Amino acid sequence: VGWFANIPMGEKDPIFGILDAFLNDTNPSKVNLSIGIFRTDDNKPFVLECVRKAEKIIISKNLDKEYCVLLGGSPAFQKHNLDYTLGPDCEYNQPGRNICFQSLSGCGALSMVSQFLSRFFPGRKVVYMSDPTWPNHANVLESMGLETAYHRYYDAETVSLDFCGMMEDIHKIPKRSMILFQSIAHNPTGFDPTPEQWNEIAEEVKKRKLYAIVDNAYQGFASGDSDKDAQSFRILAKHRVKFALCNSFSKSLGLYGERIGSIIFLTDSQDEVQRIYTQFIPLTRANYQNPPLHGRRIVEEVFTNPELSKIWKKEVVMMAGQLKNVRQLLVQNLKEAGSKRNWDFFTTQIGMFSYTGLSPQQIERLSKEFHIYMLRCGRLAIPGLTTKNVAYVAKCLHKVTS
Ligand code: PMP
Repeated sequence: VGWFANIPMGEKDPIFGILDAFLNDTNPSKVNLSIGIFRTDDNKPFVLECVRKAEKIIISKNLDKEYCVLLGGSPAFQKHNLDYTLGPDCEYNQPGRNICFQSLSGCGALSMVSQFLSRFFPGRKVVYMSDPTWPNHANVLESMGLETAYHRYYDAETVSLDFCGMMEDIHKIPKRSMILFQSIAHNPTGFDPTPEQWNEIAEEVKKRKLYAIVDNAYQGFASGDSDKDAQSFRILAKHRVKFALCNSFSKSLGLYGERIGSIIFLTDSQDEVQRIYTQFIPLTRANYQNPPLHGRRIVEEVFTNPELSKIWKKEVVMMAGQLKNVRQLLVQNLKEAGSKRNWDFFTTQIGMFSYTGLSPQQIERLSKEFHIYMLRCGRLAIPGLTTKNVAYVAKCLHKVTS
């Protein structure tokens, strides 16, 4: 008998389960609305032109493949990450006021930050999160030894942000706990607080003496403007709320499988920087020894090469624009299909996801009768919509909701 022959069988991952069902469906009209990966309007994988060009330049440089010993990847990678996220004018964007590490994308950043906090956070090791949030948040945080709890965020009745509920709940969080925020394009609801609301949140978090983890997975994707999409945590920084920022280039540079991102801790002194750095050395060694090279070289090339930076900016605008466009088309097509429901939330929500308020039964009908696949919780992944399938999806949405 194998060593693991009697361990409990794990639960099937909801997203991969749906993907399986989608792949096994032979109907030509099938539509996958379950995964947050940007694709072309022909539903083909999309590699950014700036990335293709950067890769050619990198290959032409004949660089070596030795270990990268710097936990931050390189000074250029760190500098550009700081300017991109915090902005050049931020109080914390100067020596002694931050420390920046390379990470295995957003998820790797969350994982390393959680391990670090699990060992060293001096307050309550409980992280409060929005209800709902990306399901992997609880998985990562709990796997690394942190406790999780929830605050209100979404009002199912009105399909909107429950800001009052959120503030009431934050007000009750015991002091010196932790709170996890999604910086922009909230997954799964698609609803974000406004900048004014972020100011209120920042004040309350400061009062409660909470430490924040900021998951920054979609900077640029919401508006097409990376500065605008960084407002939430720039506001937190202005209020001197301390946080660990977990950045991902999976979406903004389309580098999903390259696993490249960064972690930025805000600090008060060079001494604190050194303490974090020296504790990160054994943590990194235990996890992956050294940061990987290729993704970091791509990011660095795009950031430092003005021609590529320009192309990148345009491409982010294009990606965000495509998502906004199909959102509008969906609402328009729902009206044309005869739906009398109010679907305006599709265009007030932003980013890759929409919470639709559809019931599990309606979602089952969509897959069984119409070959349209989305998560049972009602999350619809906008990138699966194209100008070619949006009319069909709208018609079917109308059918299951009328
Ligand atoms: N946070 C959120 C909210 C996400 O939706 C995702 C990806 N779906 C991630 C983090 C992590 O993605 P990655 O590890 O590819 O950066």
